[in-house]
Amino acid sequence: MADDRWYLPQHATPAEERLHRKQRLAAGFRLFGRFGFEEGVAGHITARDPERPDHFWVNPFGAPFGHLRVSDLLLVSSAGEVVEGEGVVNVAAFAIHAAIHEARPDVVAAAHSHSVYGKAWSALGRLLDPLTQDACAFFEDHAVFDDYTGVVVDREEGKRIAHALGANKALILRNHGLLTVGHSVEEAVWWYVTMERTCQAQLLAEAAGTPVRIRDDMARLTHSQVGQPVSGFVNFTPLYQRIVREQPDLFD
Ligand SMILES: [Zn+2]
Repeated sequence: MADDRWYLPQHATPAEERLHRKQRLAAGFRLFGRFGFEEGVAGHITARDPERPDHFWVNPFGAPFGHLRVSDLLLVSSAGEVVEGEGVVNVAAFAIHAAIHEARPDVVAAAHSHSVYGKAWSALGRLLDPLTQDACAFFEDHAVFDDYTGVVVDREEGKRIAHALGANKALILRNHGLLTVGHSVEEAVWWYVTMERTCQAQLLAEAAGTPVRIRDDMARLTHSQVGQPVSGFVNFTPLYQRIVREQPDLFD
């Protein structure tokens, strides 16, 4: 991921920046609920705190994505303690996201859930191919965690996942699902939405025939056009506007 953040809104205080991130995070959960990315209690999106960079905001364990409000979010320390908010943090959320936020100081937000097309694709243990313009956002910018060892509950497994992610924007967790990261909550959520749909598109295309792959040099060019952090940020905007108009109680 290129580290170019000119497009991000400027905030006068860390408190304003925190509120901005928490509002996008709550909206991200509403959108994940809307898209049907929820599988019981699985799934988490996190946002780094602007003042305490080793702390992150996350959903409480067991809270429905579709009901999530800003006031429901938990602030979790690097030791896994809930230091603000009511509820408990999902053990897997902490194990995976703490390791990623630690390994990638450039990452503000990370998203993971057990959405159907992502987990179906993950069972193949393959990278996504550049089959469509949208898929090029992930060209040479995602990886496969080519292992599965049960529910991720310890920091060491989280570190292995963070290592597999490397400098990429996304990771396919084999036999598990997708994980995306961004320089903003907006970006991480959008990459998740479009990666899930990219998995769906490749599964459909391969079920129907033999897809034509975009040439590597064209895929690389297209990545520079649709795969930059600003693209993730901009593409989130209409989704955000829609969910805020439809479900303004997410700001509560
Ligand atoms: Zn999971």
